[in-house]
Amino acid sequence: MQCAAVLSAAQAASTAPLLQAQLLGTVRRAMATSLLRIPPPQALLRPLVVPERLLLGPGPSNVPQRIRAAGGRQILGHMHPEMLQVMDEIKAGIQYAFQTQNQLTLAISGSGHCAMEAALFNLLECGDTILVAINGIWGQRAAEIARRLGANVYELLKPPGEYFTPRDIEEGLVQHKPSVLFITHGESSTGVLQPLEGLGELCHRHGCLLLVDAVASLGGAPIFMDQQEIDVLYSGSQKVLNSPPGSAPISFSERAREKVLRRKTKPRSFYLDIGWLGNYWGCDGEPRRYHHTAPINSFFSLREGLAMLAEIGLESSWERHRANCARLCQGLLSLGLELFVKEEKARLPTVTTVRVPEGYNWKDITAFLMDNHAMEITGGLGPTVDKVLRIGLMGCNSTGENVNASAFEALRRRPLWQLPPQQAVSSPARGARGRRCSNSLRAWLQATGSRGTPLPPWDAGRRHGNTQQARQEWERRSWNSRGHGGESCTQQT
Ligand code: PMP
Repeated sequence: MQCAAVLSAAQAASTAPLLQAQLLGTVRRAMATSLLRIPPPQALLRPLVVPERLLLGPGPSNVPQRIRAAGGRQILGHMHPEMLQVMDEIKAGIQYAFQTQNQLTLAISGSGHCAMEAALFNLLECGDTILVAINGIWGQRAAEIARRLGANVYELLKPPGEYFTPRDIEEGLVQHKPSVLFITHGESSTGVLQPLEGLGELCHRHGCLLLVDAVASLGGAPIFMDQQEIDVLYSGSQKVLNSPPGSAPISFSERAREKVLRRKTKPRSFYLDIGWLGNYWGCDGEPRRYHHTAPINSFFSLREGLAMLAEIGLESSWERHRANCARLCQGLLSLGLELFVKEEKARLPTVTTVRVPEGYNWKDITAFLMDNHAMEITGGLGPTVDKVLRIGLMGCNSTGENVNASAFEALRRRPLWQLPPQQAVSSPARGARGRRCSNSLRAWLQATGSRGTPLPPWDAGRRHGNTQQARQEWERRSWNSRGHGGESCTQQT
């Protein structure tokens, strides 16, 4: 008790270093007479530091004040009727965002990976066959999880930056006869938007369920779960929904629910058992039972994120992301930069991938933007590491301001996400400045242009006078060295 009292006094005095040191001395003396041998960590006796940053990477995206306030509300009991009401509202919001009437619709208490596992753990039993479409890291992750479940995993491969055609998919379905096909709608490691038209119908014709990852695309690009006959769809909270990470919308079609009901064995995970979760979320018409203590405040935030999407409307959200992404791409091209995804219609409106300019190190670029503009953009991920920079414009961050305003001006202003919506909409500065993201990059190009930076691996080709060929060869080798074959081939793992 004595230690605790002194400790809290030390915490209260955390802004006065001398007093803090004296109090810590008292804590140490008190500890000498107690059983404690590990002192309170110094870092925890100082106030929490969270710098202001503009998060224009592939997620998380900035959280607007309204959603932060929701997450900071007083907690409720996880089975209180008011909490169950909030969960019902989240469910309705997900049904709207997914465009589905599925009853088995809820939010997983975990990040996007957790929803990916929830889908695979419930759909697959040991010995089931799954075909995983891999054109970036998310297919690789799904294949890894499915292998851990003892499923027969077949990989359908495309080089990063490309998408699958219905013909590619049909060939895989005919060859491998899977019971589940996994595909990523918004491939955030490569910046590709996968067309989904016809895939559900195709899968069903071949006795297969369609599982889609829409973590990076939901709200930013059209998706229609029921009309596109998607069987399991999941997303994340921290991208277009602008909520903190840690909750993940998911929905199961009737076909998917029946497959789960027909299982011979229980899902390997109790935490992610969709039967239990569906009951807790009131999806099965039975009295709701305690399954786990929901992350109540994360659900408050998610509820507000979904409410904001409902207020804006899906169609205008899709259009906003499309238009801002197109403007960003134009800005990048006008700087002489090369976009990683060649086909315009295949570009993911939420995450744009741009090739690291030849002769530059991507880490210099991201560090420059962070140090000088408090702005995050990131390097590549998985197969695009060292090759691309990724720029995310998601939810409230997908604004003309973030594309259009000059970085220097913008940094002097209050960041847009702190403004109330009316001010953000009627801002007189809109369109009056240069390009924020691309101007930051221009500033970086100017600042580092004369500096000798390490050459990229393919640059050896420059010495032989054929950079383009050397780069293509390097990319082919680095993709294949991760165990992938050539273009659009399949292999069993
Ligand atoms: N799928 C995609 C397409 C993603 O972009 C991400 C996150 N970047 C995930 C899955 C995993 O989500 P999380 O990091 O929230 O686990």
